[in-house]
Amino acid sequence: MTSPDRLRPRRRPTPSVDVGGVLVGSAHPVVVQSMTNTDTADPDATALQVARLAAAGSQLVRVTVNTDAAAAAVPEMIRKVRDLGVEVPVIGDFHYNGHKLLVDHPEAARLLAKYRINPGNVGTKHRDANFQTIVRVAIDNGKPVRIGVNWGSLDQDLLTSLMEANASLAEPADARDVMIEAMIQSALRSAELAEETGLRHDRIIVSAKVSNVRDLVDTYRLLAGRCDYPLHLGLTEAGMGDRGIVASTAGVAILLNEGIGDTIRVSLTPEPGADRAREVEVAQSILQALGLRSFVPQVSACPGCGRTTSTFFQEMARDIDAHLKSRMPDWRERYPGVEDLRVAVMGCVVNGPGESKHADIGISLPGTFEDPVAPVFVDGRLDRTLRGEGLVAEFIGILEDYVDRRYGGASPA
Ligand code: SF4
Repeated sequence: MTSPDRLRPRRRPTPSVDVGGVLVGSAHPVVVQSMTNTDTADPDATALQVARLAAAGSQLVRVTVNTDAAAAAVPEMIRKVRDLGVEVPVIGDFHYNGHKLLVDHPEAARLLAKYRINPGNVGTKHRDANFQTIVRVAIDNGKPVRIGVNWGSLDQDLLTSLMEANASLAEPADARDVMIEAMIQSALRSAELAEETGLRHDRIIVSAKVSNVRDLVDTYRLLAGRCDYPLHLGLTEAGMGDRGIVASTAGVAILLNEGIGDTIRVSLTPEPGADRAREVEVAQSILQALGLRSFVPQVSACPGCGRTTSTFFQEMARDIDAHLKSRMPDWRERYPGVEDLRVAVMGCVVNGPGESKHADIGISLPGTFEDPVAPVFVDGRLDRTLRGEGLVAEFIGILEDYVDRRYGGASPA
């Protein structure tokens, strides 16, 4: 059998960047990160959301630092996060006035784990000087930076000059290609300036985000071939609901599968009042589906069809999934490796036994007109057959025993 390690994409080699103790780069697992949407000037609300995102599995959390009040609130906010027992590195997101805020609020500069600089948003007249001011603060505080280009705020001078140069060619390139080239040049020229200013090569992460899947893929493929900085990957302005999830997954998955991308964020527009941590769950699901990382045990369930005319099978799949998620905070501590567990819940005899045998533990429910019995498979072998009303509770009991035996230090049966 092919080992899962051999199926994993080979990561593009990069240096390791230390972001407040979390290492980002090809030698380390792809890092999941997220961003708050609270007013950073409100330290209580922001601290709670940072803690919530961290609890969901975000290894880095970024906050907007857009005003004096926000910068002034950063130290108190981070103290509150730590008081909640949460050690997640907090990153500052700066636009327009980062050079002023970081100088005027040295405690915030000291406590933030990384600064995100958008080279398109550091001013026009004093662009390089402002950029270098931020870089010098980073050097003085021993912090890494992310040079985060975004096509919605692309350096217009650079874009215009590339467009003009392109227009004068005998065979001009497509405007889309020029835009992509401008994104890449903006990121790499800024990285070069940062290094010339004295920032270490291994203190730089780069991103070049766009809102279209194919543009994202083309941009990052080119960017990956032209530098060895770790890359922060994500579709910007991905949108709401399923559409945002699908678009983000499509773009990020193609690149991750080619070994491109060292940290990801899934930028979803939440429904009003919805849990911000959804973007963390989606990022984790992408990495787990690609076999790059494991976060929670996976439930393989068939879609059901005319052979499963009751909702019992759907309810069981849902209940087992919910049980696994609810047990993870405890299991993660007690049972190292349990996140790799694979569980199958199948609707009938057609694919049920086969899929269940491929899982660590699986159950094949009776379809319509089949005998009302449910064979349970453990490590590929028929373990027992369940029947009757307590079937779900019995299966969960078997599952709990299996997890304890397999991951609790004793050998599996
Ligand atoms: S396993 Fe059975 S119930 Fe599930 S989709 Fe296949 S045929 Fe239908």
